[in-house]
Amino acid sequence: MLTNRTTLTQFLIEERRRHDESSGEFNSLILDVALACKTISRLVAQGDLAGMLGYAGAVNVQGEQQIKLDVQANSCFLRATEWGGHVAGMVSEEIEDAYRIPAQFPRGKYLLAFDPLDGSSNVDVNVTVGSIFSITRAREPGVDATAEDFLQPGREQVAAGYAIYGPSTMLVLSVGRGVHGFTLEPTIGEFFLTHPDMRVAEHTSTFAINSSNHRFWEPAVRRYVDECLAGTTGPRGRDFNMRWVASLVVEAHRILTRGGVFLYPRDSKKAGAAGRLRLLYEASPIAFLIEQAGGRASTGRRPLLDVEPTDIHQRVGFVFGTAAEVERIERYHTEAYEDDDPDIPMYAKRGLFRAVR
Ligand code: MG
Ligand code: MG
Repeated sequence: MLTNRTTLTQFLIEERRRHDESSGEFNSLILDVALACKTISRLVAQGDLAGMLGYAGAVNVQGEQQIKLDVQANSCFLRATEWGGHVAGMVSEEIEDAYRIPAQFPRGKYLLAFDPLDGSSNVDVNVTVGSIFSITRAREPGVDATAEDFLQPGREQVAAGYAIYGPSTMLVLSVGRGVHGFTLEPTIGEFFLTHPDMRVAEHTSTFAINSSNHRFWEPAVRRYVDECLAGTTGPRGRDFNMRWVASLVVEAHRILTRGGVFLYPRDSKKAGAAGRLRLLYEASPIAFLIEQAGGRASTGRRPLLDVEPTDIHQRVGFVFGTAAEVERIERYHTEAYEDDDPDIPMYAKRGLFRAVR
């Protein structure tokens, strides 16, 4: 019986009752985001029938080809959230500058950053995609937010989550007290709590990395992966499995469900690049969820949530999952840099990577 289950709305209202000062604006914002996700879920499910899989003909600020679905999903987020008076501005993967709320709507006290369609480059092969969002407080409520206002470390998030458009659509959310998963009942359009208190497993034998970048990896990452691959014959003394879906939402969902460790580390493929994933609307919200679920999220060297952003679209190296594995990777980085390696000057103390740590 669905009526015996907790809806997203009921969950949010019960959470709010814990905070006397809470006005309910925050809940309205989350429900607006949930509406955007439900709409995107329908579009994604229609596949090619929605006529949205082709290129939109534009390149986004990341230099990536936008497909029509990216553009449409972006509009879903903007239209669902801009009118409510809860946000002072937004940042999207698909928009170069901070999005200004249209003049006719009031400005609110929150900032919303989102990746409207994560994994969209693989949408043509019909694999699972998702949306990611992050909510922080506006520096000045009621006033248009600037891009600089969004440059807050991930620790400042008041909520973060993702929607995953798989065989079932789920919304996975943290408002700062654990991580909770809701499954969409599509015929009545309601999210129901199905996965309360999601936790990252404390032990794992699964890692996820794009091995085709092996030659670009830093020594610490090579060491970690090589030790996993050595299995029972290596220092780890057990066999590991590897997974790679190349969609952040899917990787995060697997790790929240089964444990594991994900690495998209900084590498030397693009000189001077800090990493691949975007800090504000990909890594930060996922890191918030992972920490809330008892896992660990890192740049490879330090907690991801401590990184001070300098640009709304900046990229970052990202390692997250089972805490003990992430700690091990951080330790390998520390140890790697204690020795100058004259054979690999770019990794040495005064080398390329050393300088931009
Ligand atoms: Mg993405
Ligand atoms: Mg995207």
